[in-house]
Amino acid sequence: MNVFTIERFGTKDGPGIRTVVFFKGCNLRCAWCQNPESQLAKPQVMYTQASCVGCGKCAEVCPVGAITYDETFGFISDSNLCVLCGACLDACLYDARSIVGKEWDEDLLVKELLKDRQFFSESGGGVTFSGGEPLLQGKSLVSLSAALKKEHINLAIESAACVPWPVLEPFLPLIDLFYIDIKHLDSEKHKKYTESDNSLILENIIALDRNGANVIIRVPIIPGFNDTAEEMRKTFSFLKENTSLQKVELLPFNRLGLAKYRGLGRAYAYEKTQNMVNEDLTDLVLLGKEYGLLVHAGAL
Ligand code: SF4
Ligand code: SF4
Repeated sequence: MNVFTIERFGTKDGPGIRTVVFFKGCNLRCAWCQNPESQLAKPQVMYTQASCVGCGKCAEVCPVGAITYDETFGFISDSNLCVLCGACLDACLYDARSIVGKEWDEDLLVKELLKDRQFFSESGGGVTFSGGEPLLQGKSLVSLSAALKKEHINLAIESAACVPWPVLEPFLPLIDLFYIDIKHLDSEKHKKYTESDNSLILENIIALDRNGANVIIRVPIIPGFNDTAEEMRKTFSFLKENTSLQKVELLPFNRLGLAKYRGLGRAYAYEKTQNMVNEDLTDLVLLGKEYGLLVHAGAL
C-alpha cells in the first residue's frame, strides 16, 4: 500500500478522534483537487520553492537528468524520469526537496494505526481511509480493513466510488461509514472536469444504500462547476428519487492545494479563484432541506 501521509487527531472525517490514512493513486483528475500529490500511484519528489536558494546542486547530482529549471516553478523533478534515488534530497542543504509517498506493508501499518487505540476508545473514534482513491488499493485495503476490524477499530472511508461494484462490495461488512462524493449529475460535465464520467459513482451510491451501508454524501462546491441552485437541485433530486440517504455535507471550495501544485511543477486552474466559506453555502443548504435532506455546510 502506498501512503502519502497519516494525519492524527482528525475530527472531521468520522465520529470521535480519527487517524486518517491518505493513500496515493487516484483514477480521477478533478480540476480543483486539493491533494495533487495523491494522484500518481508511485512516490514522487516534491519541491518547496520558498526554501530554495537556486544553487542548482540538486540538478547537478541527479543521475538521470530528471531535474530542470523552470522559470515559473523552479527546480522541478520530472516524475517520469526520476528513479527516487534520493540524491537531490541529500544534496539540498535547505530542505527544499522531499519524497511524497511510502510503501507500507499491512503488519507495519496496523501496528502504526493501533498506536492511537486509546484515543479511539476514549472518543468513539477510529481510522479513516482517504486519498487519492483508497479503493484503488483493492485487496490490500480489504485485508487491512479486516485486520483493523479484528481489533474492533471503527473504520470510515472517503471515496469517489468510481470503481466497479465488485471492488467496493467486499468493504460492506468492514466499513462503518462511507463518505462518497457526488461532484456533478451531468455525466459529460463530470468527465470534462474529472476525466471520468459519473455512471459508476451513481450506480455505486444506489447499491451501497440498497445494501444498508451507512453513507454520508459529500459534495465539493466548486465555483463555475456545481455552485448554482440549478445544479444542486439535480443532485438533491437524484438522492431523493433513487436512495433513502439523508445526510449531505457541502464542502466549500478552497485553494489549500496551491503550494503543492507549484511543488510538483503543475499549473492550477483555480489559482485565482476565491476561497469559499461555509456561510457562502447557506442558500444551497436551505435548498437541500426543501428536499427533506439533512444538509450541512462543511464537514461535520
Ligand atoms: S530522487 Fe534521484 S532521480 Fe529523482 S530527481 Fe532526485 S536525484 Fe533525480
Ligand atoms: S539543491 Fe535545494 S536549494 Fe539548491 S536549487 Fe536544488 S532545491 Fe534549490
